[in-house]
Amino acid sequence: MSTIHVSAEENRLREQISEIGRAFRNLALAPGTSGNISAKCEDGWLMTPTNVSLGEIDPAAIAKLDWDGNHLSGNKPTKESFLHRAFYDARAEAGGVIHLHSTHASAVSCLKGLNAESCIPPITPYFVMRVGRLPLLPYFRPGDPGMGEAIRAHAAKHKAILLANHGPVVSGATLTDARNAMEELEETARLMLMLNQHDINTLDNAQIDDLRHHFNADW
Ligand code: ZN
Repeated sequence: MSTIHVSAEENRLREQISEIGRAFRNLALAPGTSGNISAKCEDGWLMTPTNVSLGEIDPAAIAKLDWDGNHLSGNKPTKESFLHRAFYDARAEAGGVIHLHSTHASAVSCLKGLNAESCIPPITPYFVMRVGRLPLLPYFRPGDPGMGEAIRAHAAKHKAILLANHGPVVSGATLTDARNAMEELEETARLMLMLNQHDINTLDNAQIDDLRHHFNADW
């Protein structure tokens, strides 16, 4: 039987994907078997398997895909792997991508009258710094390849997008960055819903410029 060489870095990423999946599950951000996590390694990318709770990902069962998305090893990858690939194609710097059906971000994705260019307002500096402007993409049937095309059209300029009536997809230079951005996005969506009946003080242009200047915020 041939053995497949797995680098120390790939093993580290496999463990990290499993650990982040458990953390999201414990935070109730990954109901049922929803949600998927991927990371880029030196010779392809790793993707969580289909039909498994994010809380129960065996690092050795994580799927490995080549740059064209062909399945090389591990269990069958999630049906939503094309969402991740769209981010890797459009953002050379992306090292990790996470997609969830988390409650608050998904609730926001169902609201009428949102600004499709930037659907969560700049209500906290951390949202501005870690997530940035969040485009709302139209509704697509699950598995519709048009969803990947729509993401490609936005991903070069945005590290995160929200799929209407579905949920968020977030990328980061590292898996840790993507995880932090996803948690920030979910919490800010929760704040937005809590504040729904209130007049909100959003950050103004000068305050956002200040964040750009000091923290390289991408707004
Ligand atoms: Zn989904």
